[in-house]
Amino acid sequence: MRKYVIMGVQGSGKGTQSELLAADLDIVHISVGDIFRWNVQNHTKMGAQVRRIMASGELVGDDLVESVVQTRLTEHDWNFGFIVDGFPRNRRQAEFFLESYDIDAIILLDLPDSEVRRRVLNRRLCVGCGINYSLIDNSPAVPGRCDTCGGELTTREDDTEEALAVRLRTYHEKTNPVLDLFRRKEYVITVDARPAPEVVQAEIRQQLGLPPAKPQEDQQVGQQEDQGNERA
Ligand code: AMP
Repeated sequence: MRKYVIMGVQGSGKGTQSELLAADLDIVHISVGDIFRWNVQNHTKMGAQVRRIMASGELVGDDLVESVVQTRLTEHDWNFGFIVDGFPRNRRQAEFFLESYDIDAIILLDLPDSEVRRRVLNRRLCVGCGINYSLIDNSPAVPGRCDTCGGELTTREDDTEEALAVRLRTYHEKTNPVLDLFRRKEYVITVDARPAPEVVQAEIRQQLGLPPAKPQEDQQVGQQEDQGNERA
């Protein structure tokens, strides 16, 4: 059983790295942001509650976030473990999490703010299957269309200059102190997020003491929608 949390500033590749690790280790990838986005896209009551907050780049309230995480984890479909992405984002969430679960490691993807802006503003998301594209190094063959499902590529509502400024400020003010809390417990491994995804993945695995990844023929780098979202 492996229980990981992946943290890092916006655009640091948390989704991509989580998917790679989850596919190889057969653990469940739980992305709180994906769960919220699924709810927004499917016009659920929760979606209506969080849409504006997300678009502005602010954090959703702790009570709702904690109940989403708790509900998802009590499904117990994670026989071999999980990797949680985008949670905890502040001290209260961290304390709530540590009370309930023993975490093996926090994977911190380290990316300078200057690089964040370039990456985030060039990010596109398929509305059909949720795959992430980067117009910097992973453009689709047909502009605006997903290579896998042909779906339309959109920009996330919160991938704007304004929302990004809010998200970065929130990250430094609220999420960084969480890392100090975890560092005191010696849980944190820090990985440079600037190299190519497979290089970052190899470094994560090396620092976690895992063997090199098995070759995955059909693995989609950057796929965001995990099955868990459907059950959110
Ligand atoms: P992400 O995809 O992780 O960047 O999350 C997108 C948005 O979802 C964030 O900007 C927040 O509005 C909301 N969100 C995701 N995770 C959390 C969390 N742990 N606490 C509060 N809000 C969250």
